[in-house]
Amino acid sequence: MIVSVASGKGGTGKTTVSASLAWVWERPAVAVDLDVEEPNLHLFLRPDISWRKGASMEIPVADPAKCTLCRKCSELCQFKAVSVMGKKLLVFPEMCHGCGGCLAICPEGALSSGRRKLGVVEGGRTKNGQFLSGRLRVGEAMSPPLMREVKFLLDAMLESSGTDAILDCPPGVSCPAVNAVMDSDVIVLVTEPTPFGFNDFVLAVEAFAPLGKPMGVVINRAGLGDSTLHRYCADKSIPVLCEIPYNRSIAEEYAAGNVLAAMNPWLEGLFAELRDNVIRMARAAGAEAAHA
Ligand code: SF4
Ligand code: SF4
Repeated sequence: MIVSVASGKGGTGKTTVSASLAWVWERPAVAVDLDVEEPNLHLFLRPDISWRKGASMEIPVADPAKCTLCRKCSELCQFKAVSVMGKKLLVFPEMCHGCGGCLAICPEGALSSGRRKLGVVEGGRTKNGQFLSGRLRVGEAMSPPLMREVKFLLDAMLESSGTDAILDCPPGVSCPAVNAVMDSDVIVLVTEPTPFGFNDFVLAVEAFAPLGKPMGVVINRAGLGDSTLHRYCADKSIPVLCEIPYNRSIAEEYAAGNVLAAMNPWLEGLFAELRDNVIRMARAAGAEAAHA
């Protein structure tokens, strides 16, 4: 099972929930940091990193001597990463999405394959499972290609070991966030009952609902605000999987980079209940699909 932990905005406690869920997961699990622009799951799980490798993607490199300025490549590229300006072919590697189309279409062999560095992927072990993370190169604008690399490695790990995965996804509802949850079996949305939290939670529900995946909510800092969030979830039949109370000692543990589920039996029980609710939600969705 792949569990995506996502949120409509940053700062809701998404990584805290991911770390604690991975901590209490009973089957072998891979904790994955897919928030490659700002990975911080390692700060909580403190893995022993045993390997690290660079990640790159294919980009075109132009040979002006062979180019006849036919424009086939520039007409094909929807990202305008190759362009003919006057009598010059220009390549903008930072805008390239690595589809390879221009390389395939060029009739003169004027484009050859180069590489653009995306960042690094690293892996190792935490106290109770495997760990996988991507880290985007400073200055790199596109995170989905690196996320794809992390997911590719994750697929191989899941296939060979039959484990589950807990994904700490990028916050928000843009392309990287939707990309991150795309292959999961279940989505856990973390939010807080504040006006900002509610607004971004609604955006996340609207962005992820079309994917048709079972989705539940973790309410962090429960006790703040009013009942708007609860009423919305009831209206939309979104189950509240867990409520983490708003209190000073939890905030202190979080600030110290501790895994909440490891702090005391009550918090461990709270996240074990979250785990059980997530599994129940996924099974119910599977049973519904089987009967459809
Ligand atoms: S590889 Fe694809 S995205 Fe990149 S420049 Fe060529 S056509 Fe554009
Ligand atoms: S398709 Fe090839 S020959 Fe035509 S403009 Fe592009 S690089 Fe030049």
